Amino acid sequence: MTRGAEHKEKRALLGLEAAEISSLLPPSAPAYTARQIRAFCLDGREIAEMTSLPKSLRETLSHDLVALPLTTETVRISADGSKKYLFRFLGGDLAESVYIPHDYGASVCVSTQIGCKMGCAFCASGKEGFKRDLDPAEMLAEVVAVNRDAGGTAKKRAVSGVVLMGSGEPLDNYDNVREFVRLLTAEDGFGLSERSVTLSTSGLADGIRRLADDGSRMTLSVSLHATTDEARSAIMPVNRRYPISEVVSAARYYFEKTGRRVTFEYTLISGVNDSPADAERLTALLRGFPAHVNIIRLNAVEGSTLKATTLTAAARFAALLTKKGLPATVRRSLGSDIEGACGQLKRRYTGEDGE
Ligand code: SAH
Ligand code: SF4
Repeated sequence: MTRGAEHKEKRALLGLEAAEISSLLPPSAPAYTARQIRAFCLDGREIAEMTSLPKSLRETLSHDLVALPLTTETVRISADGSKKYLFRFLGGDLAESVYIPHDYGASVCVSTQIGCKMGCAFCASGKEGFKRDLDPAEMLAEVVAVNRDAGGTAKKRAVSGVVLMGSGEPLDNYDNVREFVRLLTAEDGFGLSERSVTLSTSGLADGIRRLADDGSRMTLSVSLHATTDEARSAIMPVNRRYPISEVVSAARYYFEKTGRRVTFEYTLISGVNDSPADAERLTALLRGFPAHVNIIRLNAVEGSTLKATTLTAAARFAALLTKKGLPATVRRSLGSDIEGACGQLKRRYTGEDGE
């Protein structure tokens, strides 16, 4: 029996408010116990590890409950210090998170859905198809589990930022993602600043505008990856619904409403989007508003014919952008030795066809 199956019928304490936890406790339990349990959950402790609670209470709670709605299936450590986690959620679904160390602090890359509906040609999560949305407690648990493994607690965090760049399209799971960010940033929750959370989207323009209107303070990162609608639609089917002009205009709106500079992700694919004409069009598209371009070289996905642009050509592409006044950086492709890109470890683990 897998651990997921064993926990199938159990509920996770991390998903409950203190008042709900109180209602599960015997009347004899002191009033602060529920708050204490919530704090332990945010530290990533399992019920058996909440040793300041009476043993009998721990046993009663363990009957129907677990602390976190996930267990760690595998962990892979990259030579560059990043660490990739494959988590199994209650019910058995698998999704990935990545721990990414920086010069200052570290961030966690979080999955927001099991699979993804968007079907981008270069992405392992898209190939797998969509299974279900992750709920707020499941996303929070990814952060809590990685933070604990890095030696942190909720009060003394080992992670300082969160990026929504794992499997899934966060704006296609809008309400759950907003609630997750609320828990992540609440003072009596995980306590991170909303400005240290980055939401990456394939460009659901309506969702971007809604986020701006909802008073978001997150950093917005837009996966652009092409400069003509023809090229973008060929690798990102979502472009047929929200073409480039609409995506860029929603990103401008986000800047106007929030005052936050928008990041554009641009994955270079050899012969598809890496010509000097692309660089020219990209600068024209993003002219007149504070944008930053993150250039990434494609992480080849098994079974795809798409190839990464060479390092030299990537540097040349970035230089063309900066020469025209558009800030651009070529990002390290982290963890490529551990299937670092979106959905790849899971694909390797479960076989070519996903589940
Ligand atoms: N669905 C959201 C967030 C998850 S994907 C989005 O698409 O933005 C996070 C980032 O990884 C996106 O910029 C995506 O385009 C990029 N990505 C996915 N697969 C990749 C690959 N094989 N190589 C390089 N980048 C990839
Ligand atoms: Fe989904 Fe993002 Fe992957 Fe596209 S790149 S399939 S939107 S997870």
